[in-house]
Amino acid sequence: MCKQKPPLAVVSPGRVYRPDQVDASHSFMFHQVEGFAVDKNISFSHLKGVLLHFAKEFFSSDVKLRFRPHFFPFTEPSAEVDVSCFVCKGQKDKCSLCKGKGWLEILGCGMIHPRVLEACGINTKEYKGFAFGMGVERPTMLKCGIDDIRLFYENDVKFLEQF
Ligand SMILES: [Zn+2]
Repeated sequence: MCKQKPPLAVVSPGRVYRPDQVDASHSFMFHQVEGFAVDKNISFSHLKGVLLHFAKEFFSSDVKLRFRPHFFPFTEPSAEVDVSCFVCKGQKDKCSLCKGKGWLEILGCGMIHPRVLEACGINTKEYKGFAFGMGVERPTMLKCGIDDIRLFYENDVKFLEQF
C-alpha cells in the first residue's frame, strides 16, 4: 500500500505464526489470506460483494453471510463474518458442524482505518479502502469435514493425497 498509488487491489496469502497451544483446532503456524482494495468510492457494499462471491464459490451457491460488529485496530468499522451453515442450511437440528447455531465464523474484515491510509500517503478525502483476513485451514476444515488442524502438517500422504 505504501509503495504504490491507488487504485489498489491486493490478495496476499502466506504463513502466519502466533504463540498458541496446539490442539485439534489451534496451531502456532497456519496460513492466512489477506486482501484489500483502495480506490475512489469504495464502500462497505464492495466488501460485502467480494466476500459473498467468495463464500458462494467456495462453500455453496445458496450460502448467506452475517456481519457482526467487532473491533480490529486497523479497520473502522470492523466486522466478524459468519457463513450460514451449508450442512444443515440453518435448520440447526443436531448439526455437528455448526453445533445448532446455524452460522460458522470464517473471517474478519472492515473499512481500512483512515490513519492507515494516511500513513501510506494516501489522501483520505479522495480514497477509501476495505480489507479482510481469513485463515486457509479453518474454512477448508469446515468445507471438507476435517476435525483436526494438525492433520495438515503431519505429512501423512494418505491425508494429503485427498486434496
Ligand atoms: Zn449446521
